[in-house]
Amino acid sequence: MRIPIIAGNWKMNKNKKDTKKFIEDFEALIGDTEVEVVICPPFTSLDSASQMLKNSSVKLGAQNMSWEDHGAFTGEVSPEMLLEQQVEFVIIGHSERRQIFSETDDRINKKVLKALEKELRPILCVGETLEEREGEKAFEVVKNQLVQGLKNISGEDASKVVVAYEPVWAIGTGKTATPEDANEMAAFIRNTIKELYTEEISEEMIIQYGGSVKPGNVEEIMNQTDIDGALVGGASLEAKDFIEIVNF
Ligand code: PEP
Repeated sequence: MRIPIIAGNWKMNKNKKDTKKFIEDFEALIGDTEVEVVICPPFTSLDSASQMLKNSSVKLGAQNMSWEDHGAFTGEVSPEMLLEQQVEFVIIGHSERRQIFSETDDRINKKVLKALEKELRPILCVGETLEEREGEKAFEVVKNQLVQGLKNISGEDASKVVVAYEPVWAIGTGKTATPEDANEMAAFIRNTIKELYTEEISEEMIIQYGGSVKPGNVEEIMNQTDIDGALVGGASLEAKDFIEIVNF
């Protein structure tokens, strides 16, 4: 049975004070949940967050990392540095990283490989642009991102990867894919994993949907057969909204 993972991607929001406030508010609201909950604050808040979450079921994720261990890589953060902050998940290949920071599939693959080597669980983001969807290229684009992103990754490691399907046109726009369209792509992703690995691995894989998930639409999305979680941006910034998503 797949246990859903709901992850909040705070992007470049919240300083340490805001992080502390969110965690205090969220911890006061969260009870027993049937899902795994992850928050992904900016690097500068990871230390405070990890101290506050020591005895919590809420897990920590980072929004990016380097594929290198250490050295002359100005501005980068290594996997060991994340592990030191009790980080367990790392978002890799978010569309903002791909588009604004020109991350290529090759670099994304290096990061996924490195994360797995260090026993961090990568949340590998894939998804098509509006132009690609309108040009009927969505499935081809997503398949290519998966094949490239998972290059040289063994079956054993592949089952630890979380795949987040995030259509670029739905991120931060208020537009959501219909639950049926999102599920169609999630099923396609699962089938691609089956082709690349085995049916067993494809059935174990957690596939999230991301793109304007909010309290009002999460239930319908989570009720889809092939969607096992959500990667949430804007609606993960307020504890009162994120708790509604977690308790869908
Ligand atoms: C995201 O940042 O991954 C995301 C899905 O953002 P939003 O929920 O704001 O669309």
